[in-house]
Amino acid sequence: MDNNDKKIALVTGGTGGIGTAICQRLTTDGMCVIATYSRADKKDQAEQWQTEQKELGFDIALGCVNVGDFNSCELAAKDIANRIGEVDIIVNNAGITRDSVMKKMAVGQWDSVLQTNLNSVFNVTKQFLDGMITRQYGRVVNISSINAQKGQFGQVNYSAAKAGMHGFTKALAQEVARKGITVNTVSPGYIATSMIMAIEESVRDKIEAQIPIGRFGQPEEIARVVSFLVAEDAGFITGSNISANGGQHMF
Ligand code: NDP
Repeated sequence: MDNNDKKIALVTGGTGGIGTAICQRLTTDGMCVIATYSRADKKDQAEQWQTEQKELGFDIALGCVNVGDFNSCELAAKDIANRIGEVDIIVNNAGITRDSVMKKMAVGQWDSVLQTNLNSVFNVTKQFLDGMITRQYGRVVNISSINAQKGQFGQVNYSAAKAGMHGFTKALAQEVARKGITVNTVSPGYIATSMIMAIEESVRDKIEAQIPIGRFGQPEEIARVVSFLVAEDAGFITGSNISANGGQHMF
């Protein structure tokens, strides 16, 4: 991959549903994009994804990182610096659900969601922040959720973790505002990826009926928002949140 003079963008969970669309969009925008997958035993699958992307015309690099683990993030950052270069743009997109009502939620369900969806934002961003400050340029976009904004039955873990991203975003945005670095969140509504398709069909139908636009969103519609926020000329937008939810939650 030739990344001369291109901005380097890291997309965690880049091989997933929304992640793939973000990687494709940022590649089209002229960036050198690195997609991460979560575990070494998923390497073959990730390489297969990479080949498919290449066939579609998207030249995307790969990195392996468990975003919930600080040491794994540190190793991945060193590997990326050696193989590719300095990361200018971080899209903290990796995320999981482990749904249950609070009454039945196990400690492990709470911990894993907080670790993967919230600790990850610290673990990943921390690796690249010094470099961004030195170069006086950076873009950080955290993919939150409509369920951080409105809460969701059966998701105290997910809603809390995603809501935590907003506090992180607003605090860090203030800390680095004079360093050429912006930090923002995007809050998708229900997007047609495997995460949503895993929901029981009858429940899914009820959710779809609550969306004023009358359909689930497409991953490309989230990628569009990310593309906007990471652009060089979006430098006055920081500490903000952009909702993309088909009108399901407005404020
Ligand atoms: P997917 O399940 O398709 O993708 C999730 C990605 O996260 C996968 O690529 C997965 O990698 C990665 N991931 C999971 N755990 C880890 C980990 N420990 N370390 C590194 N990577 C990890 O989900 P979506 O594309 O739908 O979701 C993307 C983001 O958007 C998530 O943060 C989600 O919460 C958020 N979101 C999604 C909505 C939706 O309706 N789909 C709505 C609102 C927010 P791997 O496969 O290699 O394990």
